[in-house]
Amino acid sequence: MNVVEIFGSKVFNLPTMKERLPKDIYKSLVKTINDGSKLDLNVANAVAHAMKEWALENGCTHYTHWFQPMTGLTAEKHDSFIQPTDDRTVVMEFSGKELVMGEPDASSFPSGGLRATFEARGYTAWDPTSFAFIKGTTLYIPTSFVSYTGEVLDKKTPLLKSDVAIEKAAKRVLALFGKHPKRVVAYVGPEQEYFLVDKNLRNKRKDLLLTGRTLFGAKPAKGQEMDDHYFGQIKERVAAFMSEVDEELWKLGVLAKTKHNEVAPAQHEIAPIFSTTNISTDHNQLTMEILKTVAEHHDLYCLLHEKPYEGINGSGKHNNWSLGTSDGELLFKPGDKPEENLQFLVFLAAVIKAVDDYADILRASVATAGNDHRLGANEAPPAIISMYLGDQLAAVVDRLKKHKSVKSVSGEQIETGVDALPDIKKDTTDRNRTSPFAFTGNRFEFRAPGSRQSVAGINIVINTIVAETLTEIADELEGSKDFKNDAFELATRIFAEHDRIIFNGNGYSDEWVKEAERRGLDNLKTTPEALPRFVSQKSIDVFTKQEVLTEIEVKTRGEIMMEEYNNTLHFEMLTMLEMAKQEILPACLKYTKFVTDDIASKKAIGLDAPNETDRARTLTSLTEELITRIDTLDKASEKVGGEDAYAIGMYYKDTVVPAMDALRETADTLETMVSKEYWPFPTYTDLLYYV
Ligand code: ADP
Ligand code: MG
Repeated sequence: MNVVEIFGSKVFNLPTMKERLPKDIYKSLVKTINDGSKLDLNVANAVAHAMKEWALENGCTHYTHWFQPMTGLTAEKHDSFIQPTDDRTVVMEFSGKELVMGEPDASSFPSGGLRATFEARGYTAWDPTSFAFIKGTTLYIPTSFVSYTGEVLDKKTPLLKSDVAIEKAAKRVLALFGKHPKRVVAYVGPEQEYFLVDKNLRNKRKDLLLTGRTLFGAKPAKGQEMDDHYFGQIKERVAAFMSEVDEELWKLGVLAKTKHNEVAPAQHEIAPIFSTTNISTDHNQLTMEILKTVAEHHDLYCLLHEKPYEGINGSGKHNNWSLGTSDGELLFKPGDKPEENLQFLVFLAAVIKAVDDYADILRASVATAGNDHRLGANEAPPAIISMYLGDQLAAVVDRLKKHKSVKSVSGEQIETGVDALPDIKKDTTDRNRTSPFAFTGNRFEFRAPGSRQSVAGINIVINTIVAETLTEIADELEGSKDFKNDAFELATRIFAEHDRIIFNGNGYSDEWVKEAERRGLDNLKTTPEALPRFVSQKSIDVFTKQEVLTEIEVKTRGEIMMEEYNNTLHFEMLTMLEMAKQEILPACLKYTKFVTDDIASKKAIGLDAPNETDRARTLTSLTEELITRIDTLDKASEKVGGEDAYAIGMYYKDTVVPAMDALRETADTLETMVSKEYWPFPTYTDLLYYV
């Protein structure tokens, strides 16, 4: 395959625009893309026409405004280009108005009570910064989604607003250093983990089919103890799948770069080259879709769930985040001149302060039912938010905060305790895999996000909280008479005051849990514990001050996340009951009967089978226990209710989850005793070693 040729072949990208648009139209569109300047209808009409012609030549019949409602998924409603004519034939048309704005019925998307369903109208607005593309026979136009009354109904709009907020704040700080770049942008590179499973095996399990994870399943004989899967040789069937994924993504202009096997058997990762938060988010949504659809071509199923298998590593999404200027400067890259170091230290201080001040909101941004099985459940990373700086940088920060009285005469070289920061190499920073928020040389890697999450929500939070601390820094330093000295003092003061958030040790250890508690850091283990923080006054204050979300939008988003947790638990609970009652219990009864019949026939001819009888006794008592635990969960399920989503969430966590865990425990023990012939669905070994 000729990658250069196919790359972006299904994207209405700059070269295609240049080739197909009149010069002045192209110029004004590029200006809109680069500077966000307003687009007039003439330009929109010309662009729509060119887009349509290009789409028709590429076999399209429809177009769709592609948007990202608060479900975290993407939504699309396809309209054909047909337009009737007088002689009862059709022509293919697409106007600037149709390109710029759409009116999908918004009533069935979650709004957290934001908008009564009778005010169902919402509209989608074209986002020219993310290029239109073709999938199948449809032209996809990335859009944002808002209600007629102006409330934001999607994930893209606040992401774009958070980009504006951080750009504004970062420019103010850079101005203090005499720098005035045209743009400052946030970059994201999301590493995507996923599992593959044979589609036919997956279809035999209701839990995988309905909830995306196994609700039952005894440990396989071989787990991940051998460490032989990570970076291991990629099997042929999987390689064929991966290669088709790459091809499809490249056609869509996604910079798919790295692919490899992950730690767990049947687990893999794909990572792109980073781009702006907005494009990365769109591309990550596309990547998840392509993984799913291409898997089907290979009789595979792609599991994006955070924890498909108990006792086996789960899947996350490492969100690599940084800031850069239009002059090509990365703001978290330590420089080799002292002045540059000062700028780096100030930006570093802003992130440290943001993560410490808003650790709970960061935690809430990754709170989902699926992710509860990773965070706080003995898996990477822990639910306690902390930062890892790497040994070298941690030592520098440590020295600085202790010598914070070191003064400099204005204009002279600043005595930072280190003339130049050491060239911080990736390999010295990237070794701690247990840290939720790690500095990795020129960026920060937030490792807590779940594999299925849209990265929009996470980056809305990161952009907003760092915008806030950069704003505070700018407020304090603007008008300073002795800028270098004051900036240095401020950075070192922040290092000292926010010392508690830095942790370079093992995030899995019990000692860290105790130590974190001593430091006063939160350990919000589950979604119902974390989400109230998202709607706290502190959270509302920062989102409204940075003009990213209004108070009501913060509250509705919290509500939607909480409802999503509750709905997930609801389906898991019901699926579990169904499987236990209709599949597992009958299997256990049948198998026990097989054993007891066998004992009876032996006894009839005078044979004694004491061990087998013991087995039968254990099977019987475990089956009895199974029934009791089914009943307990059944009863618990009847009591779910009420108006308050947060209270319902707490009920699920405190009452339903323990009942589910108990039921699973018994069923999994029974699985190890019942003959495979009788067991009603594929086991972990079948699923994990399908190739
Ligand atoms: P590792 O597994 O060692 O963390 P990968 O290469 O798998 O590294 O993934 C790193 C991700 O970080 C890639 O998506 C990469 O493009 C992205 N990345 C690199 N530099 C930056 C940066 N300055 N800002 C944001 N993302 C970045
Ligand atoms: Mg990484």
